[in-house]
Amino acid sequence: PLDLSPDQKSLQARARALASGPIAARAAEVDRSEQYPWDNVDLLKDAGLLGMTIPAQYGGQGKSWLDAVLVIEALSAACAVTGRIAVETNMGAISAVMAYGSQEQKRLAADLVLSGDKPAICITEPGAGSDANAMTTRADRRGNRFVVNGRKHWITGGGVSRLHLIFARVFDAQGNDEGIGGFLAIRDETPGLSIVRREPTMGLRGIPEAEIAFEDMELPPSALVVPPRGLKKGFADLMNAYNSQRVGAATVALGVAWGAYQLALDWSEKREQFGRPINEFQGLQWKLADMSIRLAASQALVYKAARSGEAGFPDMLMAAQAKIFTAEAAIQTVNDALQLFGARGYSRDLPLERMARDVRMFTIGGGTAEVLRTVVAGAILGKKLPQTRDGWQKRGDGRL
Ligand code: FAD
Repeated sequence: PLDLSPDQKSLQARARALASGPIAARAAEVDRSEQYPWDNVDLLKDAGLLGMTIPAQYGGQGKSWLDAVLVIEALSAACAVTGRIAVETNMGAISAVMAYGSQEQKRLAADLVLSGDKPAICITEPGAGSDANAMTTRADRRGNRFVVNGRKHWITGGGVSRLHLIFARVFDAQGNDEGIGGFLAIRDETPGLSIVRREPTMGLRGIPEAEIAFEDMELPPSALVVPPRGLKKGFADLMNAYNSQRVGAATVALGVAWGAYQLALDWSEKREQFGRPINEFQGLQWKLADMSIRLAASQALVYKAARSGEAGFPDMLMAAQAKIFTAEAAIQTVNDALQLFGARGYSRDLPLERMARDVRMFTIGGGTAEVLRTVVAGAILGKKLPQTRDGWQKRGDGRL
């Protein structure tokens, strides 16, 4: 029913084998040590699972979003951190550069990703979260260069990522606002880019979230990724590319929930109380049934959203629907799976408590479930829904 090709089934089988083998074996240690799993990066690289979506002319395999989804789903069932690495080496920043970048930018980004770098995408600021358009990081044109100043936080990969795609408001030499653009910078090569601190996170601890500062960071014009409709629509086009990452985030949640469900299913047969396997109790049967329904619905939404992007990026409405439903369903499914284990589920000896911490993120990062509901509402109502009190008028320049 999911219409996977023979190639997709074999790709999925390869990812599942890696996931249930070495990646599952390391997952607890990745969480405990809070260390980025470079060993897993090497495994993914050797298996051709990094940068799969990069076109062949830049060294990738030109694979589809759905191909990436199959891999991310399989990896995340064992280790959400590794699943996220597969997201960010195939979707998000890399996909924006591959769609909108110059030849030089595409080559730079592809080479970094294919050699194991997970690019960072820098949008969120302390004062601009859901209201990302309120970002104050600025890039001033000074002669033949840009000077970037500002601060971002909750940047996934901060401190391990080399390539950064930094969203900044661009100003011309006279100080006129030109719109939002994405700048490419490389940690340890671009002066002025510094990692300020690591956020102490609830879950997904093997991948750092960091605050990043840009202080008089000088970049050449060739560092600016100019989307097709120019800087005026730069933010909208960059966020369009970000729909791929939203599908990827939904897929990680789906994978974690799938992994937890499999563990619960297995345990419900093994564990006996009152002289019978606990899955003979109807209360638990119905819980398992509901888990399976949520998983099937999540998978259908995620695959559909991935398929909607065959000729470009996934559809914004479908990506938002998939991410909202899957993230909320996954939180519930993992929580139910933990419950089926009783006290064991609460122990750090088993992965359920880690999965519960990891999966909690997906209604927050990459657009909260609330803000994405507004995206869905805007699409089904055919209306723009500015959230500022004075709506369109706020900026005073007729532009939102
Ligand atoms: P706020 O915007 O302050 O929201 C607070 C609450 O108000 C939320 O519940 C929100 O839904 C609600 N709210 C706000 N506005 C509205 C509205 N109009 N209607 C209804 N409810 C509303 N950002 C990056 O740029 N790059 C990254 O790599 C990245 N990685 C992340 C990884 C993790 C693990 C997390 C947790 C976050 C990450 N983020 C990243 C940041 C993330 O995108 C933001 O957290 C998110 O956009 C929400 O912003 P905020 O946290 O400032 O919440």
